[in-house]
Amino acid sequence: MDAKTERIIYLDHAATSWPKPPEVIEAVREAMVHDGANPGRGSHRMAVSAGRIVFEARKALAELFRIANPNDIALTFNTTIALNMAIKGCLKPGDHVVATAVEHNAVRRPLEHLKRTIGVKVTYVETDERGRLDPTRVREALLPDTKLVIVNHSSNLLGSILPVAEIGTMTRKRGIRLLVDAAQSAGILPIDVEAMGIDLLAFPGHKGLLGPQGTGGLYIHPEVNLEPILHGGTGSQSEAAEQPDVRPDRYESGTVNTPGLAGLAAGVRYILHETVEKIYNKEWSLAQRLMEGLSAIGNVRVLGPEPGEPRTGIVSFIIGSADPSETAFILDRHYGIAVRAGFHCTPLAHGTAGTAATGAVRASVGHSTTEADVDALIAAAKEISRYY
Ligand code: PMP
Repeated sequence: MDAKTERIIYLDHAATSWPKPPEVIEAVREAMVHDGANPGRGSHRMAVSAGRIVFEARKALAELFRIANPNDIALTFNTTIALNMAIKGCLKPGDHVVATAVEHNAVRRPLEHLKRTIGVKVTYVETDERGRLDPTRVREALLPDTKLVIVNHSSNLLGSILPVAEIGTMTRKRGIRLLVDAAQSAGILPIDVEAMGIDLLAFPGHKGLLGPQGTGGLYIHPEVNLEPILHGGTGSQSEAAEQPDVRPDRYESGTVNTPGLAGLAAGVRYILHETVEKIYNKEWSLAQRLMEGLSAIGNVRVLGPEPGEPRTGIVSFIIGSADPSETAFILDRHYGIAVRAGFHCTPLAHGTAGTAATGAVRASVGHSTTEADVDALIAAAKEISRYY
C-alpha cells in the first residue's frame, strides 16, 4: 500500500480482486524482465521460456478445475470474451437456449444479438427473488431443439449459488451442452468440470483467481467442436489458409498476455495452496457478518440468500430511500470504502430481486478482507441510514 491506497477499504472484489498477492505481482515482473519474448512464435530460448509460462498457467488452471488435458483450456483476456466464444461458437440458426434470470449482460447481450441476427430462441428461467434456482425449472424449459443451457454459477448481484451439478446431470443425460459462467465462482467455489457435467466453463483470471486484469479463459470439453470466433496467426501451421484444428491454437489467435498469465499462474497456485474450501469458508463468514450487521440497521434491505444459506461474498443492499449511487459516493468520499452501485451489468437479476427501478449498492469481500473492513461498512451504513 502507498499514500494513494492506504485509506481504501476495498469491498469490490466481485469487479476485480485487489490487492493481488505479492507473489502474483512478482511473477508479472519476473516475466516482463526475464521472459519478454512472444510465446509460441519462435524457437529461440526466450520464446521457449515464455511458452513455458503460458503452459504453467494452463496446467495450474487444469488442476484447479480438474480438467484432464490443459490444452482444452483456451486462454482469453476476460470472462466476456470466453462467454462470447462459447455462445457464438456453439449456436446455429434456430437453436434453442435456456439461460437463467440472473445472467450477466456478458451472456444476455450475445444471446439477444443472436436472437436478432440468426433467430436463436432463448428461454430465461426464473429464480426466486433471492436468486435461488430450482433445477426442475430448467428441465421444464428444455425443448427438443435445445442446444445449450447457460448457468451463472453465482449471481453477481445476489451472491446466490446455482445448482450447476444437478443441471449438469440433466443436460448430460439429454446430450445438451452446459455452459457455466464462473465469473463469481472460480477460485471461490469448488469446480470439477467432469463431476459437474460442465461442457464449457468461462472464467476470469482477475477476480477470485487473483491474477492480473486482462486474463481469463474458456474450458472446452474435448468432444465439443466449437467454431472459433476469432481467426488469425497462431504461430503454428502458418502455411495453412484456415484456422488449425489443434488445441489450444484453434482458439488463441494473436499474442497472448504472457506477463498476465505468469501472474495468473501464481494466483492459482496461491489458491491451490490455501484451498478453495478455506477461501469459501472465510468469504461466507464475512458475508454473514456483513448481512447481519446491515440487516440490524432497520431501514436497510439486504438482497440475496437468507442468513445461514450458502452464498459467495457478495452482499447487495439498499439504504432506505437513498439512491444507491449516492450511497456509494458517500461511502467512498467520506469513509474511504470502495463498493459498486447501479445495475452491475445485470438488469435481469435486478428484475428478479425487485430492484429494477433503483439498482443497489454491492459490497463484495475477498481474500484480503478483514472483519474490521466489514464492521467499517456496517458502521458507515448506520450513519448514512439516519438521513434516509
Ligand atoms: N459474468 C458475471 C457473472 C460477472 O460478474 C462478470 C463481471 N462483472 C462477467 C461475466 C464479466 O467478466 P469480465 O469482466 O471478466 O469480462
